Amino acid sequence: MLALLLALQQSVADSSPFRALALPAPTPVRTAAGAPGPRYWQQRADYTLEATLDTATNVLRGRGRIYYVNRSPETLSSVWVQLDQNLFAPGSVSGILNQPPLLFAGGVVFDFSGKGFVGGVTVDRFAVGTQQLKTKVFGTMMRVELPRPLGPDLSVTFDIAWHFPIPPYGAGRMGRVGSRFYELGQWYPRMAVYDDVHGWNTLPYVGAGEFYLEYGDFDVSLTVPAGFQIAATGMLANPTMIRTAQERARLAKAFENPGQVVSVITRPEAVANATRKVPGTRTWRFTASGARDFAWATGPDLRWDASTWDGIVVQTFYHADATPWEEANTMVRFALRHFSGSLGQYPWPQVSAIEGLIEGMEYPMVIFCPSLQKREDQYWVLMHELGHQWFPMQVGSDERRYPWMDEGFNTFADYDAAEAFFKGSAYGDTVRRELLSAYTATAIPGSEQPMITKPDEVRQLYWTAYQKPALMLTILRESVLGRDEFDRAFREYARSTRRRVSIRPSTRSVPAETARSCIYRTADRWCYRSPWSFATTTEQPKPATCRSRCGTRAAALLTAWPRPSDWRAWSSIRGGSIPISIGKTTPGNGESLVDAAASELLDEI
Ligand SMILES: [Zn+2]
Repeated sequence: MLALLLALQQSVADSSPFRALALPAPTPVRTAAGAPGPRYWQQRADYTLEATLDTATNVLRGRGRIYYVNRSPETLSSVWVQLDQNLFAPGSVSGILNQPPLLFAGGVVFDFSGKGFVGGVTVDRFAVGTQQLKTKVFGTMMRVELPRPLGPDLSVTFDIAWHFPIPPYGAGRMGRVGSRFYELGQWYPRMAVYDDVHGWNTLPYVGAGEFYLEYGDFDVSLTVPAGFQIAATGMLANPTMIRTAQERARLAKAFENPGQVVSVITRPEAVANATRKVPGTRTWRFTASGARDFAWATGPDLRWDASTWDGIVVQTFYHADATPWEEANTMVRFALRHFSGSLGQYPWPQVSAIEGLIEGMEYPMVIFCPSLQKREDQYWVLMHELGHQWFPMQVGSDERRYPWMDEGFNTFADYDAAEAFFKGSAYGDTVRRELLSAYTATAIPGSEQPMITKPDEVRQLYWTAYQKPALMLTILRESVLGRDEFDRAFREYARSTRRRVSIRPSTRSVPAETARSCIYRTADRWCYRSPWSFATTTEQPKPATCRSRCGTRAAALLTAWPRPSDWRAWSSIRGGSIPISIGKTTPGNGESLVDAAASELLDEI
């Protein structure tokens, strides 16, 4: 009988929205909280690349070496490589799907069809020494057979060569304006991640899922027409060969006067450069360390502003007709200081914001952003792309699976950065209310998808991956944990996962409850089960207080509606309140929902 009752209780408990998730047990590689454990490992990929931009044909040709270290405990017989340019290959999955464009706030549109461009990448060589390796291309992924098994702690150096036609519109990740301006991301064969969770991560690049990459060092030489400027990941390694004495002197002024914006290439100079004919080519060499990717932009007529904060150079590159980009440098510097304070110090020596056709995209030390007429929109996109320098450039989450872990965490941090920049203005006071109106418009019972849904399967990516997690974290901070506890935990999350891959979005419950594990657990419920799809009500709840399971006094309001299993917690954020579900309350403030539902059913039996 006892066994029967226990079995029944178990089955009832399983039906609760607050039931424990079946999550992997902790291992020496990964702790119960999902963080890297004592035997955590990750692979390493260093790139030494040379690429030449042919502006006559708009073809990019590259060659180089990838130094790959197997730090896993397994022996690998093959490796996987990302070939993102095959998004535009004839017959690509993306082309067949012909996905509708993704819509973001402010009318920003991402079109993953490439607007009809057909291209794709040709891998001319993938070799070890003189031995060409056997490869098989699966759309945007390529498997490479190794000449001999690669055991633990062994390395291999691949010799590679490739070329591809640069699309005018590269699905929001690259593009060009004629043969005068190029933005290039996801442009070279990149090692796929091999991790302890999924092994080889071979999810294709379809469009919405950005990337998931190993960390390493870069040494990249780029050959472009002699009159072109380049903005890129890393630091220029040959400035005396590339920069004029005047440019170097102006740049030095930015260091002498921190916080002051120095025009290194002025508007009249940029306009004059547009028509200046400079014969030949120049090779720019950039180096970067501890980065997961490399991106760059080039053109002859870019304005260039620079300023410094805490020894970091903030650079903005933009066209003469871009408005309001004169303020962009100040905006980026403000956001850099803000995020360094709230999320941890920015780790690289420079950041470059580049104005152009890409609607907004992030790479290590490089952000692409269009010229937007409204000042608030301009700041938002610049600041949002800069926020990605923390999520996912430092917290190396898997964007092909979990966009909410970079877009959502970043968007949450963005609201603070927007409120700080526009402090005292109507916009600054009300911007976070967007989350409430998005909730009302999008969290529709029956149609809302859990945050854990893969980006290529999400109908409303802006809500599911950006705003919903931002709202979740806002509620967690303002109504459940309190600011001090939450901010401490959020910073610790960013610190402990820095330059790590395979960050898991889930954890199991642990007896020693910390604010940090509470963040993970609450995220579990909200991201896997989408409880915000529960019916909502406009009826004002009765005020009450509760103590959250994390031991912090919650400001949430609870109301019984109408059975214990329908309890809702209400969260007030500036401008309104919404119902949330926070699960069990502690004894004395309410019964365990799971237990209550179980005993009710047992009574009926
Ligand atoms: Zn983003």
